[in-house]
Amino acid sequence: MQTAQDTLPQDITTQTKTYSGSCFCGAVQLTVSGEPAAMGLCHCESCRSWSAAPVNAFTLWQPDAVKVTHGAEQIGTYHKTNRSYRKWCKSCGGHLFTEHPHWNLIDVYAATIPDFPYQAGVHVNYQEARLHLRDGLPKMKDLPKEMGGSGVAIAE
Ligand SMILES: [Zn+2]
Ligand SMILES: [Zn+2]
Repeated sequence: MQTAQDTLPQDITTQTKTYSGSCFCGAVQLTVSGEPAAMGLCHCESCRSWSAAPVNAFTLWQPDAVKVTHGAEQIGTYHKTNRSYRKWCKSCGGHLFTEHPHWNLIDVYAATIPDFPYQAGVHVNYQEARLHLRDGLPKMKDLPKEMGGSGVAIAE
């Protein structure tokens, strides 16, 4: 039998922060663990149209950092292109995340994981912006070079 004291040192050395999230109704629950690969705000027309919001606050994670812990069978998928598989809860319609297979990353919407200390680092697809945010962060015309974009920054 292990006591709490026996397990404590190992728990500290292997500690990875985990944050919980869910859809609007709670039928689908998920967690993200560790640190995201990137965080920012996307101004593209696709994000705007699908989310019905002026910008999409994204957090990009390696696939193994994202776990659906409840209600996986409630998740619907729509893909207009093979670059973005958009996921939502079939019960409430609440949006959850988007899989980007070509990057091997998953965008878990910041609003889906309210306890995660989200901090935007960059604006992407700013040439499509409808809501201009003058926050001093870099504004990429499309995407950073390492994400397959031009890497060109434009004015706020
Ligand atoms: Zn739901
Ligand atoms: Zn977008």
